Amino acid sequence: MEDIFAKDVLDTNLQNFLRSLLPNSDQLLLEMEEFAQNNHVSIVLPEVGQLLNLLVNLKKPKKVLEIGTGIGYSTIWMARALDENGKITTIELLPKRYEIALSNLKKAGLEDRVKLINGDAREIISEIKDTYDIIFLDAAKGQYQEFFNISQTLLSPNGLLICDNVLINGWVIDLKYPERRKKTMVYRMRAFLENLKNEKDFISSIIPLGDGVALLFKRG
Ligand code: SAH
Ligand code: MG
Repeated sequence: MEDIFAKDVLDTNLQNFLRSLLPNSDQLLLEMEEFAQNNHVSIVLPEVGQLLNLLVNLKKPKKVLEIGTGIGYSTIWMARALDENGKITTIELLPKRYEIALSNLKKAGLEDRVKLINGDAREIISEIKDTYDIIFLDAAKGQYQEFFNISQTLLSPNGLLICDNVLINGWVIDLKYPERRKKTMVYRMRAFLENLKNEKDFISSIIPLGDGVALLFKRG
């Protein structure tokens, strides 16, 4: 399993400026940002964390599903915005990351609001019978179309699907990629984005923030 590092899709000046306008991360988030940097673990950029927090505040979801927990950084950004009825279910493939996320969520005092599952989300979500008000998709970048297909039925009417890293370091824009083995992932993401306009049940918007965030709103 490899991680994608969000580089500068936006002009660096603009990105730094936008980041300078964010409230400061607290100690726990700062430690997690440092851990991610040192251990080559992908996490949402802080400005995307802030967007997630805003969207959860706006939507006031009872149930959120996250696909790809990582070390729980984005989970914390979202969980902090939940009201007392809100819960997040989050799925992580790698046992080691699952353990780290568990410990981070405890440190954040959010363990009661978050249910962590260790396993392959493709298998787990195909068995889920529940529906979710928000789904945050942030797992393998070559599998977004597949995850989108399965997660459609899990999304409640007026539900929101948020997809991170849809521009993959900007490679999706001009179909450039540094190594041959990234080709499939980049082309698949491109096809996924191009198809969104044909999805009549969804209103989509692609925000060029961080590494690219797609918002897909399921019509009620
Ligand atoms: N959302 C996290 C980052 C997740 S990084 C954050 O922003 O803080 C992507 C994660 O998805 C990785 O930890 C990877 O192990 C996990 N992943 C990849 N494929 C998966 C799958 N099929 N099921 C569950 N998790 C998966
Ligand atoms: Mg991501």
